[in-house]
Amino acid sequence: MKQKYLHLTTFGCQMNVHDSEQMAELLKRSGYEATNDVKKAGLIIINTCCIREKAEQKAYSALGRLKKLKLNKPDIIIGIGGCLAQQLGAKLLKKAPYVDMVFGTHNIHLLPEMIEYIETTGSRILETGFHESVRSLGIPTLSLNSRVSAYVTVMQGCNNFCAYCVVPYVRGREESRELTDIINEVTTLADQGVKEVTLLGQNVNSYGKTISGHPGFSVLLKEVGKIKGIERIRFMTSHPKDLSDDIIRLFPQIDELCECIHLPVQSGSDHVLKRMKRRYTSQDYLDKVAGLREVCPDISITSDIIVGFPGETEDDFKKTIDLMEKVRFDGLFSFKYSEREGTEAVKFDDKVKEDVKKRRLREVQSLQKKHTLEKNKTLEGKTEYILVEGISKKCRDDVMGRTRSNKIVNFMGGVNLIGKTVTARITKTYLHSLRGELVCKEVEKC
Ligand code: SAM
Ligand code: SF4
Repeated sequence: MKQKYLHLTTFGCQMNVHDSEQMAELLKRSGYEATNDVKKAGLIIINTCCIREKAEQKAYSALGRLKKLKLNKPDIIIGIGGCLAQQLGAKLLKKAPYVDMVFGTHNIHLLPEMIEYIETTGSRILETGFHESVRSLGIPTLSLNSRVSAYVTVMQGCNNFCAYCVVPYVRGREESRELTDIINEVTTLADQGVKEVTLLGQNVNSYGKTISGHPGFSVLLKEVGKIKGIERIRFMTSHPKDLSDDIIRLFPQIDELCECIHLPVQSGSDHVLKRMKRRYTSQDYLDKVAGLREVCPDISITSDIIVGFPGETEDDFKKTIDLMEKVRFDGLFSFKYSEREGTEAVKFDDKVKEDVKKRRLREVQSLQKKHTLEKNKTLEGKTEYILVEGISKKCRDDVMGRTRSNKIVNFMGGVNLIGKTVTARITKTYLHSLRGELVCKEVEKC
């Protein structure tokens, strides 16, 4: 039988990356091999994101490029998934007549059936219904980039309805997976050689609320920590209002739990936080950071900040800068506020001008650059545990791995190190990565 090829493009966050991994895994079972060559592919899928306008525009550009391809090769199947597809549904099919299939965030498990239907009937498909439980969640998938590290979704959707955010509308309400299902999935991954898992959810700290027995996120972390072969656990994202002292105290207690946390603050102004409906104050946030650093002094803390939310004054913005100075994040994702249809903030009439948003974003990014460089510099001369993920992209004589604090380290080494935890001395630090030299390749014997 002729080999079938899939070309998959992903926009957006880790949740989307993992959705794409699950699509690739499902389609592999239907005989599709992933390819980076779009011309070779018989099936092309774009996994879209609509969290911010920029991601949405990127998806439209990618879609535009496919129009020509379909004209030249009418028998290719083009599918659009993800949250933009969820939001636009039939409008997308109408806008792009060369698209064969539009499917939403709850319908990934239907992909093989949908493709078979298109192959046999030639009809177009729209599948954006919400299901009570998201059936694609439990497909164990190795990462598309690493054999050592994997994502595992522990919950889906969100009930928080922050005033700017479209997630609850396009991914549905919060739903946790059963504890045993997650444990089975992580065990399967460990059996396949995975050493590190990142537990994913829009708000992992409220894990367990929707299932019987309400096990809680700390129970889940302890159980995953017991799985043989799993050396490292990470999780994201944490909502500051739900990050309990119980979870904070687990950092020094569970050896496998890595010393890093992504804790989006969004703003340093209480006035803005209230309008965003974040349900914590800047002081609450600083108290969580102090709590984390008390139990784990070297913990790496990263965050998200939105500038130019409606009504954000110069004084509000200064409070965000002050908070950044107080916390000194290891890394930051910063965004200009982007108006999203259907969210509460659309109704606010005190919008911030585009040039002001741009200037504030530049200020945040340049301060963060300084902080990241300073933080990374403190690692120079230190010896770190590195889990080696693969050959470095820039130099074939180097391998690439991560510290427990999730910083990328490149150092000289070969394929025999992939999947091993080694120690390396940090010799030079940059903004996005560190340079090291191997100290010990068999940590247990050092
Ligand atoms: N659940 C996570 C939380 O509560 O922090 C965040 C998930 S969201 C997909 C990722 C980030 O996108 C948010 O933390 C926020 O900074 C940013 N974001 C979401 N909606 C946005 C909007 N309308 N404009 C700009 N940034 C936005
Ligand atoms: Fe969006 Fe807020 Fe839910 Fe995060 S917690 S996904 S920002 S609504």
